[in-house]
Amino acid sequence: MTTTDLYAVLGNPVEHSKSPRIHTLFARQCHQALRYERRLIALGGFDAGLAAFRAAGGCGCNVTVPFKFDAAHLARRLSPRAALAGAANTLGWDVDGTLWADNTDGIGLVRDLARLMGKPVHGLLRELPVLLLGAGGAAAGVLGALIEAGPPEIAIWNRTAERARALVARMGGFARSHDCTLRCSELAPGERYPLIINATASSLGGHAIALPPGLLGPGVLAYDLMYAPAPTPFVAQARALGAQAADGMGMLVEQAAESFRLWRGMLPDTEPVLAALETELRAAPSGQD
Ligand code: NAP
Repeated sequence: MTTTDLYAVLGNPVEHSKSPRIHTLFARQCHQALRYERRLIALGGFDAGLAAFRAAGGCGCNVTVPFKFDAAHLARRLSPRAALAGAANTLGWDVDGTLWADNTDGIGLVRDLARLMGKPVHGLLRELPVLLLGAGGAAAGVLGALIEAGPPEIAIWNRTAERARALVARMGGFARSHDCTLRCSELAPGERYPLIINATASSLGGHAIALPPGLLGPGVLAYDLMYAPAPTPFVAQARALGAQAADGMGMLVEQAAESFRLWRGMLPDTEPVLAALETELRAAPSGQD
C-alpha cells in the first residue's frame, strides 16, 4: 500500500488514551501503513468533530466517553451489537460514504475473560451466573456479548436502581432468546456469583463499592473494566478477600483488535501488544479509553 490512512479516537477527555499506541503496534505487526491520532471533541459537538475528522481524510475512528451514544445515533448503518447496546465505539465509512457503527467493547471483554479463564470464547460462561455492577454506557455495551457467552443468569446492580431496571427491560428479550435470566440485584447478603464484573466508574473516583460480605472471596473472578498502573480499588478489594482479579487493560487491547479487524480486514495477535502495554502502563500514570 502506498498511502497512509488516517484513524483516530474521538473523546473528551482523550489525552490519556492508549488507543494510538495500541493501533500503532497492530499496524506494525500487520504491515499496515496507517496513522492513528487523538481528537479532543467539544462537549455537545460530536457531529461537528466527526465531520472535521472526515474532512481531514479520516477513514475510521474509535469513540470514547462521553460520545458512544451520539456515535450510534449518528450512524446510518448499525451492527446488531451496536443496535442492541444503543452505543458505538467504532465508526467507519462505506465506499459510498455511508457512516456505519459497531460496538467492540463486549467481544473485547469476553475475549479477555476467555484468556484469563483459559477457555474458548464459545460457551465461555455456560453454567456461570454473572453479577454486573453498573448500568451506564460500558455496561450496556458489554451486556449483549455477555449474554451470548451463555450464562444461565446475569444480575445487574446499579447505584441508581432505575437505570438497572431500564437496562433489564431493554435487554430482557434478547436474554430470554439465549435462555439467560436477566434481573436486577439489590446486592442482598447470600447472593453468590463466580464472576463479578465492575462496569461502574467507581474506581475512577478512587472508591470501592460497598459489597455485602461473602460476595467476593476465593473461587470468584472479579473483573474491573477500568485499568490503572496500580490495582484499582475494586481489584484491590477483591484480592484482599481472596478472589482472583483483573483490570480492563486486556479488554482495551481486545476491543481495539476487533476495531482494527473491522477497518483493515485482519485480526492482530493481541498477546504481544498486551504484554507491551502492560509493561508500559505499570511503569507510568495513565487513564481510560
Ligand atoms: P458512564 O456511562 O458514565 O456510567 C457510569 C456508571 O458508573 C453508572 O452505572 C454509574 O452509576 C456508576 N458509578 C459512577 N460512580 C460510581 C460510584 N462512586 N459508585 C457506584 N457506581 C458509580 O460510564 P461508562 O462509559 O459506563 O464507563 C464505566 C467504566 O468503564 C469507566 O471506568 C470506563 O473507563 C470503563 N471502560 C473501560 C473499557 C475498556 O476497554 N477497558 C471500555 C469502556 C469503558 P449511576 O447510574 O448511579 O450514576
